Amino acid sequence: MNQVLDKIREVIRTNQNIVLLSGSEVTKETGLNGIRAEHIAYDIEQKYGYSSDEIVSSLFLSRSVETFYDYYRNIILNKSDVELTKVHRAAAKLEREGKLTAVITKAVYGHFEQAGCKNVVELYGSAEENRCPVCGRFYDSKFIKESHNAPKCVDCEVVLRPGFSLYGEMIDNGRLTKASNAIEYADVLIVAGTSLNSLSWENTIRYYGGDKLILINTEEKSGDERADFRAYGNLSEIFTYITDLDKESTDSIQTEEEKNR
Ligand SMILES: [Zn+2]
Repeated sequence: MNQVLDKIREVIRTNQNIVLLSGSEVTKETGLNGIRAEHIAYDIEQKYGYSSDEIVSSLFLSRSVETFYDYYRNIILNKSDVELTKVHRAAAKLEREGKLTAVITKAVYGHFEQAGCKNVVELYGSAEENRCPVCGRFYDSKFIKESHNAPKCVDCEVVLRPGFSLYGEMIDNGRLTKASNAIEYADVLIVAGTSLNSLSWENTIRYYGGDKLILINTEEKSGDERADFRAYGNLSEIFTYITDLDKESTDSIQTEEEKNR
C-alpha cells in the first residue's frame, strides 16, 4: 500500500479526538441522490421545470406541495433497501474504539446511526423524522415513499412537514454549534466525499485549526492543497484500509503521490 495511505492510517491509529465530516460523495456511494442531487441537475430541470434548490424551499413547499413531495419520493428517496457503505462502518468502528468524537453530515438518511454511530450531527435534519405540524407525530421515510400526492398525518389529516431544513430556512442553531465545537476542538479532522472549497462546507471546515486535516475524496479539486494529507479514489476502499476495517483489496486507490510519479 502506498505511503500516503499508510501515513493517514498512522494518524488515525495514534490519535483519539477525530471528527469526520461526511460530504455528498459518501451518500452517492449508497446510490441515493441526496437532497440537492447535483449530479442529476439537468434531469431535474427537465422533469420539474425547476432546480433542486428552488424545489427544496419553504416557498415551493407552500405553493406546490404535491410537486415537492413528488421530488421527495422520487429524487431524495430514489432508492429503497439501501446498504450502508464501508465509510459508515469505519466511522462506527472508530467510535467504538473511542477515537471518533463526532460525525457531521448534511445527508438526511440516518446512515451513520444505522451503522451504530451515536455522536452524529445531522445538520439538515432527517428524512426519518417528518412531522405532523398539529400533533407532532413523526413519520419515517418509508411512509413518505409509500404515500401519494401530499402525505398527511393519519390522525389529523394535515400535510406533513419534511424532517429536514429547506433552503431559505435557518439550520438548527444547536446542531450548528455542536458541529463547530466538535471541529474546533478536534485533533484530527477527516473531510470525506467533498472538496475543501465546497460552498456548502467551507465555512464549517474553517473552524478546524489543527495540523492533521485529512482529505479523502473521489477526485482532486482546486483548493485541496490546504489538507495535510489527502487521498483520492473509492471512498469505501480507502476507509477500509485506513481504519483496518478488513482486508479487502485497495488496488484501485490512487493518491497524489502515485499520480505525480
Ligand atoms: Zn397529526
